[in-house]
Amino acid sequence: MKVLIADDSIVSRHMLEATVRKWGYEPVVACDGQEAWDVLQQEHAPQLAILDWVMPQLTGPEVCRLTRQQHKDKYTYMLLLTSKNQREDLIEGMDAGADDYITKPFNHHELQVRLRAGRRIVDLQSELLLTQAALRLQATHDALTKVYNRHSIFEVLGRELGRAERENLPIGVALLDIDFFKAVNDTYGHIAGDAVLVEAARRIKAAIRSYDSIGRYGGEEFLVILPGCDEECTRNQAERIRRGLASEPMPIHEDAYSDVSLALTASFGATTVLPGFAATIEEVLRIADENLYEAKRAGRNRVTFRSMLERDEVSATSL
Ligand code: GH3
Ligand code: MG
Ligand code: MG
Repeated sequence: MKVLIADDSIVSRHMLEATVRKWGYEPVVACDGQEAWDVLQQEHAPQLAILDWVMPQLTGPEVCRLTRQQHKDKYTYMLLLTSKNQREDLIEGMDAGADDYITKPFNHHELQVRLRAGRRIVDLQSELLLTQAALRLQATHDALTKVYNRHSIFEVLGRELGRAERENLPIGVALLDIDFFKAVNDTYGHIAGDAVLVEAARRIKAAIRSYDSIGRYGGEEFLVILPGCDEECTRNQAERIRRGLASEPMPIHEDAYSDVSLALTASFGATTVLPGFAATIEEVLRIADENLYEAKRAGRNRVTFRSMLERDEVSATSL
């Protein structure tokens, strides 16, 4: 773990540097308060800091204050090391945002255990951040296919519709439903069905652009949002995804059927909201759903497109 050592005395700096290195830390050295502040703002900055009080440019407490004002995800544990030893000094230093305070000349063992206490806080906070990120991922993504869950893809759709309206840009939406998926479950079992859904999601993701979004809308239904896509682009993108799904036989990544491949297809209901035509999530989904129904009715494995204004059916070539 990195430790920032900020001290304007070269003797103290060297001594601290050698000491913390001996304890297994990686020292990062700053000669004054400004340099310390610069280091603390870097990406991957040390999260443990030993700061001298009196330094040119910025004092230790000033560095503490600046650090606390900056709202970073990662916590910085700061220990003031100073010859000031009055109770008021301690209060002032801690009030500025320091976590701990140790007076010079210091006892090495005391500094070692105080640093260790700081390290515990930093480690604990890192674990909390990891847990928080994992929980966020769990709350927003579908556990099976790892794409956005229904709630999140609705949120994305709402946000993108708002943005398209503000920026006067078109937006495309495609709702797709895997064809005869029930037969996969009935023939190979539910676990094999799950594996096919995972592979289908992977193929859809591979076919979309980095700024498009995909979510699991229902059991074997996915919603794809295509920001900036006009009518032609939406049709093309939906077609691209359809081909991406259908072009190669789909292997069943499941032990019992590892040598079985299926011809899997999907039907698409696609629509576009053109600039100047505001539409709600419900309206967009209703049209996409009607178009999907139409694609199923017309024989499946195709894209049916109707913009928010008119009906215009496009049949795809079969495999
Ligand atoms: P269509 O072409 O009309 O869409 O026919 P279909 O068989 O795909 O449609 P249907 O709605 O009859 O069946 C969908 C099936 O998807 C039924 C359901 O059991 C299955 N399903 C939904 N969610 C999951 C899932 O998470 N895992 C698996 N294995 N199957 C699922
Ligand atoms: Mg369905
Ligand atoms: Mg289906």
